Amino acid sequence: GARLARLRARLSGGLGASLLAIFSKDSLSQDDWDELEETLLLADVGAAATDDILAGLRTRLRDEPDSDPRAILRAVLIETIDPALDRSLALGEPGGGAHEPIIVVGVNGVGKTTTVGKIARVLVAEGRTVVLGAADTFRAAAADQLETWGARVGVETVRSDRDGADPASVAFEAADRARAEGTDVLLIDTAGRLQNKAGLMDELGKIIRVVSKVAEPVEVLLVLDATTGQNGLAQARVFAEVANVTGIVLTKLDGTAKGGIVIAVQRELGVPVKLIGLGEGADDLAPFDTEQFVDGLLG
Ligand code: GDP
Repeated sequence: GARLARLRARLSGGLGASLLAIFSKDSLSQDDWDELEETLLLADVGAAATDDILAGLRTRLRDEPDSDPRAILRAVLIETIDPALDRSLALGEPGGGAHEPIIVVGVNGVGKTTTVGKIARVLVAEGRTVVLGAADTFRAAAADQLETWGARVGVETVRSDRDGADPASVAFEAADRARAEGTDVLLIDTAGRLQNKAGLMDELGKIIRVVSKVAEPVEVLLVLDATTGQNGLAQARVFAEVANVTGIVLTKLDGTAKGGIVIAVQRELGVPVKLIGLGEGADDLAPFDTEQFVDGLLG
């Protein structure tokens, strides 16, 4: 609907205009190829994925000289992003009461807490019961913010009243509550202070270990801010080292982001982008759809 039109309008600023010019020609010159490469790089697709895409494009343009080059590029991009990947959250049936943990990780400011709130809303709408765990105990404001989301969505938030409480204790308490209450899903918000990589690894590792004592996490979702471009890829590497990341949530695609980072991150981590954030509101979360995304990228 309107949100996707907005996304499309934004993304087309990145790739669409220059691609249209290139592909309106009968054959591509070296300059055109260079421009195509530059356009992909500027859209944050990343060097390795750009090489793959250009190689795929060359092959197909050679093998199918009569096809519409733009249609070929679309097909190559869709293939690269892989529409066949399972992008659903690995959850049981609503009402199962299996207190399945979803742990949400990422650097501060990328939109973790907001994403937890949005996911909770989707799950509640699907008829699931949810408990939130505020394991970002570094700032009391973070727990307040999560609690506000919980109240908005109508779910309970387990938190500590003290700044600097042990995040793993809060996570364990939340998991224990979810088990005791027969809740379907436990959503855990974590802190992401990347300045101290060892500390972060320690903290996340411990959260995952204690939660696993109650129930094995079904998802570890890494939240990345699409506007940070290639920096997001560097963050993704660090978190992938710490935790067995099962899915990416790409936020702020409603902004000036070009979104090509989707391709770079999936290629390098081998983890699918599952959800996208399209604004600050409770309803601004959507499943990632490859074809829609590529059409947005192409404008
Ligand atoms: P956290 O520190 O990772 O928990 O990040 P927050 O959830 O506090 O979000 C940081 C800021 O980004 C807040 O102002 C959010 O409203 C905003 N934000 C989160 N997701 C999105 C999104 O998809 N689009 C936009 N435009 N803003 C977002």
